[in-house]
Amino acid sequence: MPNSQYTPGIVSGRLSENEYAENFSDLHAPLDGHEATVAADRCYFCHDAPCMTACPTSIDIPLFIRQIATGTPEAAAKTIFDQNILGGMCARVCPTETLCEEVCVREVAEGKPVEIGRLQRYATDTLMEKGVHPYTRAKATGKKVAVVGAGPAGLSAAHRLAMKGHDVDLFDARAKAGGLNEFGIAAYKSVDGFAAREVDWLMEIGGITLHADKALGKDLELARLQDDYDAVFLGIGLGGVNALRAPGENNDGVIDAVDFIADLRQTDTLSALPVGRNVVVIGGGMTAVDAAVQSKLLGADNVTMVYRRGKEAMSASLYEQELATAKGVRIIYNAQPRVVLGEGAASGVEFEYTKSENGALQGTGEVFTIAADQVFKAIGQTLIGAPEGLKIAGGKIEVSETGATSLNGVWAGGDCATGGDDLTVTGVAEGRDAAEDIHSFLMGGA
Ligand code: SF4
Repeated sequence: MPNSQYTPGIVSGRLSENEYAENFSDLHAPLDGHEATVAADRCYFCHDAPCMTACPTSIDIPLFIRQIATGTPEAAAKTIFDQNILGGMCARVCPTETLCEEVCVREVAEGKPVEIGRLQRYATDTLMEKGVHPYTRAKATGKKVAVVGAGPAGLSAAHRLAMKGHDVDLFDARAKAGGLNEFGIAAYKSVDGFAAREVDWLMEIGGITLHADKALGKDLELARLQDDYDAVFLGIGLGGVNALRAPGENNDGVIDAVDFIADLRQTDTLSALPVGRNVVVIGGGMTAVDAAVQSKLLGADNVTMVYRRGKEAMSASLYEQELATAKGVRIIYNAQPRVVLGEGAASGVEFEYTKSENGALQGTGEVFTIAADQVFKAIGQTLIGAPEGLKIAGGKIEVSETGATSLNGVWAGGDCATGGDDLTVTGVAEGRDAAEDIHSFLMGGA
């Protein structure tokens, strides 16, 4: 049973309309043509470019930057999309500071990388704004593939399979496609409905039929899909949220951060979204940062993120941590929740400091309390609803390097599958690679 968001301390309309609009505007303004040329001119077009190796989708970064520098951003976009069909979203949400830009030789030498992410956005936006879909389908193969989950991995797999000439039925448990991009990322990283526009643009390839509100295990059975289709790809994400395992967890005002972020992404009226005056976010990943920052932007007075380990162990990058503190979020490291205080509704959280001994995390016995009328749980997600018969390893569907599962004719990728970080860009790479393997299988090459 979900906890009520509407306790006395959690109210909507804390800010003026102008403040909401300003707070949730684009995090990074897009580059204009001149700025893009100047930024592209900083690239050394390295041979064996380290930026390209660091990109999970292996985009030819020096090539697309050179194409921008020579005034052909549309060609640059094609270079990006060839490897990453969701290159537009990845340009907005990729943690470039820990991927391509971290290893850029100009970062290493001068502490200022080429702005690869912003250049990628410039190129992909230029092409998409022209309403051009640069791919056509191969001759129809007569093969049918079911793709379950219309998040980054499923969309990437579906597009690649459609391009190869297969017919794709794309199923999603939600009413809308997009997965993490549509429901799980901070609003200021994807403004103006970009996630939905990107899905529409991707679907222009043709050959993909979207079936919304179809959940695996409820409306769909894997065995039936195996019978009805020539291959199945699962990109079902992680549907479960880890519990705090602290007394008081069921108090009103204790909410899953993923639900808060999804509500925020789907609302047309930010002023209608309730937020606490004193907010505590428990966790250290991107979801925790997105929930904390957006609480502050919605008008919470005090927002504190509490993470059980040290700064370096946080899965949110240093850049994201700095973004959070720049927006007024306080981050406390090395502390774990002991109890959510309050009778019925949350009034605070008691934490205990932690220390690591021989790799094991232990409480020190020293406790402190933070007042909170709203508490967000962001301590990770777990796989739920994995179909029977699939081999599971470490809580995820076990897959080969190309995404093949333990069941013949079934592939998986993205957050639900083993391997890779739980990032949009990783999901795109895994969906693409699984689609190539499925194609090979269907055409008799595997
Ligand atoms: Fe350009 Fe930096 Fe990549 Fe070298 S490492 S190709 S300078 S973006």
